[in-house]
Amino acid sequence: MIIVLKPQPTPEQIQHVLERIEDLGFTPHLSQGVSRTIIGVIGDERKLQATPLQAIAGVEQVIPVLKPFKLASREFRPEPSVFEVKGIRIGGGHLAVIAGPCAIEGEEIFLEIAEAVRAAGANVLRGGAFKPRTSPYSFQGLGEDGLKILKTAGDRLGMPTVTEIMDPRQLDLVCAYADMLQVGARNMQNFDLLKEVGRVDKPVLLKRGMSATVKDLLMSAEYVLSQGNHKVILCERGVRSFEDSTRNMMDLSAIPNAQGQSHLPIIADPSHATGRPDLIPAMARAAVAAGADGVHVEVHTCPEQALSDGPQALLPEPFAALVDDLRRLAEVLGRTIDACDGVAAV
Ligand code: PEP
Ligand code: MN
Repeated sequence: MIIVLKPQPTPEQIQHVLERIEDLGFTPHLSQGVSRTIIGVIGDERKLQATPLQAIAGVEQVIPVLKPFKLASREFRPEPSVFEVKGIRIGGGHLAVIAGPCAIEGEEIFLEIAEAVRAAGANVLRGGAFKPRTSPYSFQGLGEDGLKILKTAGDRLGMPTVTEIMDPRQLDLVCAYADMLQVGARNMQNFDLLKEVGRVDKPVLLKRGMSATVKDLLMSAEYVLSQGNHKVILCERGVRSFEDSTRNMMDLSAIPNAQGQSHLPIIADPSHATGRPDLIPAMARAAVAAGADGVHVEVHTCPEQALSDGPQALLPEPFAALVDDLRRLAEVLGRTIDACDGVAAV
């Protein structure tokens, strides 16, 4: 850590900073130039992060040398992390193709959609049983009944499943039925929830909050990792912006940006990022070209009857065309897309 003092500090101010650092158990190194004075601090910087050194009189700036996240960082683990869920590898060149409806609406329709995405080449099945809706009057999800349907479909089609958990109280229930836990954009900084999902042995799909920076996202991942669960998959799903012709603004640079700082896989969700089926395939291809470890796409066989996010649902046919494109792209880029080897679609 480097402490930059204000111009012309008094000898008392310099002395006070040096003493304060020593009192905290660190070794200060004073460097007095012609116009500026800086103090290097040697020791485990993270232990100092909670200390308000900036508040000491005469201090202008405190510059950390290390990233505020540790377990999520590239320094901690230089090689990319690869997680396996029911035989499907995600990360390090293995792409996840996660697809399904926004919400699980009933057994028959869910199985129909699941079979369609499986046939198109998706390798993880998604569907929400607990839905975070802006309006309390909107469809809130089928709860445990929905989770049962998700498990039936996953087992029948030999697909791993992912579903959203909104509250720590849902942990045992969701873990009993799903293979992967999704923490949604609205809960990215629900720290109690992050700590709870950090105590289980299932991968966590952590979506970027709609006004969160990449650093915020990595700090949230750190919460999960710090509890012992090292399986976190990040997800770029667009951030709020001034643009009003798309639902959010997809931040493609977040993908190589996060990968440069972290070993964790990062996938892209062009469905929530754009809110528009006409834009989803292009943005999914762009994300994979930018290095994404997979995509997350909402698909529905009858969008006009969907109970949640119908306007952004992709039909199975364009979804299948997209997966074909992704396969070709993956080949060019030296990546792979694992196929589900369970029971064939019925
Ligand atoms: C979802 O995946 O259906 C969802 C609610 O996503 P997000 O949290 O990104 O809005
Ligand atoms: Mn949705």
